[in-house]
Amino acid sequence: MEQIPMVDLKNQYQKIKPIIDQEMLSCLERTDFINGSAVKTFCNDLANYLKVQHVIPCANGTDALQLALMALNLLPGDEVICPSFSFFASAEAIALLNLKAVFVDVSYTDFNICVSEIESKITSKTKAMIVVHLYGQGCNMDAIMAMAEKHHLTVIEDNAQSLGAIYTNNQGESKFYGTIGHIGCTSFFPSKNLGCYGDGGALFTNDATLAQILNSLANHGQSERYYHKLIGCNSRLDTLQAIVLKTKLPLLNDYIKSRQSMAHIYNEALKDVPEIEIPFQNSFSSHVYHQYTLKIKNGKRDALHKFLTEHGISSAIYYPVALYNQEAFKPFLNSKISLPNTEQLCQQVLSLPIHSEPNMQHLQYIVDHIKKFFKVTNG
Ligand SMILES: *Cc1c(COP(=O)(O)O)cnc(C)c1O
Repeated sequence: MEQIPMVDLKNQYQKIKPIIDQEMLSCLERTDFINGSAVKTFCNDLANYLKVQHVIPCANGTDALQLALMALNLLPGDEVICPSFSFFASAEAIALLNLKAVFVDVSYTDFNICVSEIESKITSKTKAMIVVHLYGQGCNMDAIMAMAEKHHLTVIEDNAQSLGAIYTNNQGESKFYGTIGHIGCTSFFPSKNLGCYGDGGALFTNDATLAQILNSLANHGQSERYYHKLIGCNSRLDTLQAIVLKTKLPLLNDYIKSRQSMAHIYNEALKDVPEIEIPFQNSFSSHVYHQYTLKIKNGKRDALHKFLTEHGISSAIYYPVALYNQEAFKPFLNSKISLPNTEQLCQQVLSLPIHSEPNMQHLQYIVDHIKKFFKVTNG
């Protein structure tokens, strides 16, 4: 039997193949590979979808974070707050730009940065914070923006995993994640909720000045062609990738619904297994389930991971190592850090296959095997 994959991009492609193939072929004929019209069309479509003023395309989500920090005119040694439990890229850009990453623990419940623990980490050198909306569910943005305003910090949202997720504040007003902080960043890596067929990324902002700077930074700091006001980089979204993205964007809400329906089936099947904690749904964010992530108690996570692999089921540990424990960060940290929730989550999290193409037989097979592992009898 073939291994059940984490994401099913093959069946997703088959459903849109005629239009993708035709548009890609016509791009090959036109040869407008760089800054072709699809790039602009996609950015406009995405700005409309997110109800944000400016969408700046770039080469990938990691570049988006780097460009966001570059736009802030920070000085070496300035401090940037970020969560200790995320993909490496969330903190990598900080160190790359000779800034200091200051790690804050995440909530054991919803995996996102502990807002109540941010303030004690703020110093006179703190200039910005990167908040990550992990696994498809967002942070408490009112609390974050209030903290930022009080301490004059710029807020960068790493929305690589939560594109399409909606935040609802206490007044009942709703906004898309990625459009609430000063700059939002996302990734179109193939397995993301809106993925292309290679690398891609984008930034979001409602600030026209920032948008102009970000656009320029992503294009060698040019103000007009061959006139460079800033040291930037070369970070563009290919026309071929924009074709994929503009075709898939109208389907994003359906993709999210499919992910939510898979999550619902897992939740119902697994909620009574004592050693498992199903994903928590907070009150202010919708959940777009980039990942369906369980907490496996009693130290059995690695054994379950192995058991599933042996039975042809993919599962993944996002993330096994706290960011402050990554080898690469050692030279940047003065003292040993150990944040309790992060430490525990690194031992307990396990993500199951989730994507836009649910297969009921696969789902049944997966939950049966998880229950079998814990020796819980069905029915
Ligand atoms: C995927 C991801 C990124 C990086 O995106 P790339 O396009 O792969 O560079 C950054 N942050 C988070 C949280 C991610 O999941």
